[in-house]
Amino acid sequence: MRYKNVCDRVYAVGGPGITGGDDCCVYLVDCGADLALIDAGLGRSVDNILRNVQSAGYEPHWIKYIIATHCHIDHIGGIAPIVNLYGPKVIAHELDRKGIEEVHDDLTAADLYGVKYTPTKVDISLRGEHEMIRIGDVDFHMIHTPGHTPGSISPFIDTDDGRVLFGQDIHGPFSPRWGSDLAKWKESMEKILSLNIDVLCEGHAGVYKGENARRYIESYLKRYGQSRSV
Ligand SMILES: [Zn+2]
Ligand SMILES: [Zn+2]
Repeated sequence: MRYKNVCDRVYAVGGPGITGGDDCCVYLVDCGADLALIDAGLGRSVDNILRNVQSAGYEPHWIKYIIATHCHIDHIGGIAPIVNLYGPKVIAHELDRKGIEEVHDDLTAADLYGVKYTPTKVDISLRGEHEMIRIGDVDFHMIHTPGHTPGSISPFIDTDDGRVLFGQDIHGPFSPRWGSDLAKWKESMEKILSLNIDVLCEGHAGVYKGENARRYIESYLKRYGQSRSV
């Protein structure tokens, strides 16, 4: 499969079933004149991801922003090669910036995937609980959802098909190695549930719509909600 049209404005251009299971789900957002990419995969399949962008009817050099939901290698490994090609601006949370701008296998888990990470600069560093960044004609609400990592974010946008949230690794896994915090994670999940989303674009499990989005998050709350430590 080359790409999948998720809903209004949103395409899956990388990830399991598209470019491979080593990549997180990579989502493309059509922001009018500009494009935004949500995460960039492990790095090995950047060429395929960019080809998929083209198959969906867009030019890769229209990618003006890459939003890194957190600093794990399967989400950020592809950023540096795309920045080298087209120079998009990188947006990430301040608390995961170190993992993106420096080389720390503990933070990126690159050693688990047997790859070397090429660091890249974060151009726009998020600090707040909820910051809004306008890209083209789309408002991205950057929600800080710590838990999986300290600087995890879950951006959402409002489209003709309703509210679409890019939750990525909201399901974990959790490890002290990269600073997971289950108490904060629980708060983050409650925060996401309160947003009344219509579409959940998940980082590895694909897309959940309507009630299934809520059910997906609630099932993980049930599974991990009682645990106190990671
Ligand atoms: Zn992760
Ligand atoms: Zn992941």
